[in-house]
Amino acid sequence: ETIGRFFDDACRRHADREALVVRHQGVRLTYAALRQRVDALACGLRRLGLEKGDRIGIWSQNTLEWALTQFATAKAGLVLVNINPAYRRAELAYAVNKVGCRALILSPSFKASDYLAMLADLAPELASCRPGALQAASLPTLEMVIRMGKERTPGMLNFDDLMRTPDATELDLLAGRGDVLQFDDPINIQFTSGTTGQPKGATLSHHNILNNGFFVGEAIRLQAGDRLCIPVPLYHCFGMVMGNLGCLTHGATMVYPAEAFDPLAVLETMAAERCTALYGVPTMFIAVLDHPRFAEFDLSSLRTGIMAGSPCPIEVMKRVIGQMNMREVTIAYGMTETSPVSFQSATDDPVERRVSTVGRVQPHCEVKIIDGEGRIVPRGTPGELCTRGYSVMLGYWGDEARTREAIDPAGWMRTGDLATLDEEGFCRIVGRIKDMVIRGGENIYPREIEEFLYRHPQVLDVQVVGVPDPKYGEELCAWIIARSDDLTETEIRAFCHGQIAHYKIPRYIRFVEVFPMTVTGKIQKYLIREQMKRELE
Ligand code: ATP
Ligand code: MG
Repeated sequence: ETIGRFFDDACRRHADREALVVRHQGVRLTYAALRQRVDALACGLRRLGLEKGDRIGIWSQNTLEWALTQFATAKAGLVLVNINPAYRRAELAYAVNKVGCRALILSPSFKASDYLAMLADLAPELASCRPGALQAASLPTLEMVIRMGKERTPGMLNFDDLMRTPDATELDLLAGRGDVLQFDDPINIQFTSGTTGQPKGATLSHHNILNNGFFVGEAIRLQAGDRLCIPVPLYHCFGMVMGNLGCLTHGATMVYPAEAFDPLAVLETMAAERCTALYGVPTMFIAVLDHPRFAEFDLSSLRTGIMAGSPCPIEVMKRVIGQMNMREVTIAYGMTETSPVSFQSATDDPVERRVSTVGRVQPHCEVKIIDGEGRIVPRGTPGELCTRGYSVMLGYWGDEARTREAIDPAGWMRTGDLATLDEEGFCRIVGRIKDMVIRGGENIYPREIEEFLYRHPQVLDVQVVGVPDPKYGEELCAWIIARSDDLTETEIRAFCHGQIAHYKIPRYIRFVEVFPMTVTGKIQKYLIREQMKRELE
């Protein structure tokens, strides 16, 4: 099935139901109204001469326009390129040029003026060109820039202008487009988070992401009438696939609390909109739980949700179930390259299982865990997690070599993560292969030390990495965000002493205010390592 055809059906089936609420823009749309806008936009984009397979970038935080663009590009057969709103000039140019975008859509957000300035820097020609006729030396494939919002900018097209009511011929054409679009056409390029280095552009098909959205929604038993609070970014698969497509495939309502994550907006939205489900990475849940006004909000409508993206401390999971009323919260594991989810717990898995594993492999997907030589390891033994099935991406855009490294000829995706599988198929993520520390020949999994240190009442958050050491090869280093200034290194050492093996006690302990993070809230351990390396030199 293509997303466009599915979208039309869903909008017909759920016509009068609320499809989308954008709190910060004061917008509410039923499925019927959503479809009208999406059709108008799809025709508008086609009127610009954009054709099937053309890449169109979107550089924006969460907005109404983002959602409209997602569905309209799918209907028009364009390849949507998600560009991280935190990207600056050089990163934007990298992304646009890497995949050869013909058009770029810009945010109307408070950052719009920076965006305009950055773009003007990259393409000074912009101000003097006719809208839709850009030829910029540094962005050679880019022909048009479309800006959201009321204001107009010389050289740019306006988003709302594109949404002129289409005539019957245009709509016919759009409907007919279904015949030439195939379920396995590329429809979306998403850059990986860049947690371990330079982001890679994963090319995904209708089939990949539509099905993933569906199965993710199934796992949390999403239904028409459910209201999902989506504070996670839309430019990332967590928002656009698990969020938007999860709702679309179940007739549920997408609720955006703010442009970017804001714990208070999340609390207010969940209470005011009577949300039944919430998504987030663990750091977001921590921020919501620890918000000073947490107790003021009525979260009794909440039932379920997904915590994913990075390991979730067990204590946090228990608070989410106990204090946020999310009895049916699930954990999901995945990666951009697999559309994204490949493992997820079920809402009725025992809490113990939900807090300690990422659940079982998704329907229609396979899993194996291999050692360094590619042999399948016995159950319970850690090794590299590999998955195969409908959700594996088409490849990295324009990067045959890396695609071949990531996906083997038999279709197995190598995740780069270490995991174990138990007898019943529950999967435990041990950590990233790149993060594993080998100290004097002992394998140390940073996650284990993090879980341990997290139990100290004065530790708010902690990250453990390996740093080079002449004697042991690597030494452990812990970065700690303390709840108060009183916490000392001596106290941490005393806490570890006698409780964990001596070689697992971090040699270096640093108290910090924040960790280096991607805008999805993922901690970039490689930056912690780099900084420690510089410091120790
Ligand atoms: P890059 O590939 O650019 O370094 P990234 O791998 O963080 O960045 P994503 O595709 O957004 O980019 O994230 C996928 C990774 O996130 C997984 O490979 C895994 O390491 C981690 N991850 C996702 N979900 C979980 C989870 N539930 N528990 C532990 N780790 C998780
Ligand atoms: Mg990755």
